[in-house]
Amino acid sequence: MNSLAMTAEQVEQARVLADRARQGDRRAVARCITLIENQHPLSYEVVKHLYPHTGNAYRVGVTGPPGVGKSSLISSLITTCREEDRSIGVISVDPSSPFTQGALLGDRIRLADHFLDPEVFIRSMATRGHLGGVAETTLQASLVLDAAGKDVIFLETVGVGQSEVEITTVADTIILSLMPGSGDSIQALKAGVMEIPDIIVVNKMDHPAADNMLNEVKSILSLAQNSGGWMPPVLATEAVRGEGICELWEQVGEHAAYLRDHDLLETRRQESLKREVLSLAARRLEHRMVDRASSDPHLADLLGRVQSRDLDPLSAVRLVLRDVFDVPEEDLR
Ligand code: GDP
Repeated sequence: MNSLAMTAEQVEQARVLADRARQGDRRAVARCITLIENQHPLSYEVVKHLYPHTGNAYRVGVTGPPGVGKSSLISSLITTCREEDRSIGVISVDPSSPFTQGALLGDRIRLADHFLDPEVFIRSMATRGHLGGVAETTLQASLVLDAAGKDVIFLETVGVGQSEVEITTVADTIILSLMPGSGDSIQALKAGVMEIPDIIVVNKMDHPAADNMLNEVKSILSLAQNSGGWMPPVLATEAVRGEGICELWEQVGEHAAYLRDHDLLETRRQESLKREVLSLAARRLEHRMVDRASSDPHLADLLGRVQSRDLDPLSAVRLVLRDVFDVPEEDLR
């Protein structure tokens, strides 16, 4: 069912929920995100109502391998932001994150304070589906928090190597966090398979090998091509004790100012929205095609002929595009 098939009552229900979320009602915000997470038909209506009220929050992506201290960094950054009286949203798509598990024991006890703060909304999201799906639900969930009036939204994602930065393309500023021993990420940076993030943090500076790591990252960056744009700063932090966090937050501010001064913030956001729309549409088309494979006799016949080796796969693709999707002959390359 899509939004067009919704009853007037459901549309009204979504509108009321969206309005409550906009007013900052935590339960409504949580429910909106659950609808999005479950790809519930009501979520379309919710996002539709909220969308005109978005664009004010600043989104900071924090990515890096498991255990480097992403949640600890975000927790310390929240403390700094709250001192500046900024309201905060956090979306974590890291299944091992303490935000996700609600594990607030031992050294993570400080997170508990944030959970109790009415100006901080922390939410983890299930990582079902492939990476693209997560990026889209993350973007939509961040729209909810944006419309709910959060000033800063942290997006926590886990990844190693190439996948690290992908999800955070929805962020305005991307922080890559590393620690001594993050060899895979260093290799990915070195080999150029990982996009250079906006800020690099080497966390766990209390670790004896931290200085080496810091130097290594700096030397990789100095070799990376610089087209005269933003030079990603490399910072050292000790997240659990809050060391280096003010400097980190200052750099986020510098990057935001850089984007604004060079008219890049809008471009970046527009790119991310374009990508979201196209990738959602592509996924829908794919589902449609798979559905049709079982219901359309012509398509089933084509597939059967490939299976019995009557027809080669590439010719079958062309016929599918021509006959099922009406792609003109001249476009069938
Ligand atoms: P995440 O998986 O990247 O979110 O990492 P966490 O924030 O959950 O941190 C993983 C572990 O590293 C936890 O036990 C933290 O207490 C610890 N940790 C985080 N930052 C530091 C730090 O600067 N120094 C040390 N020694 N431990 C840290």
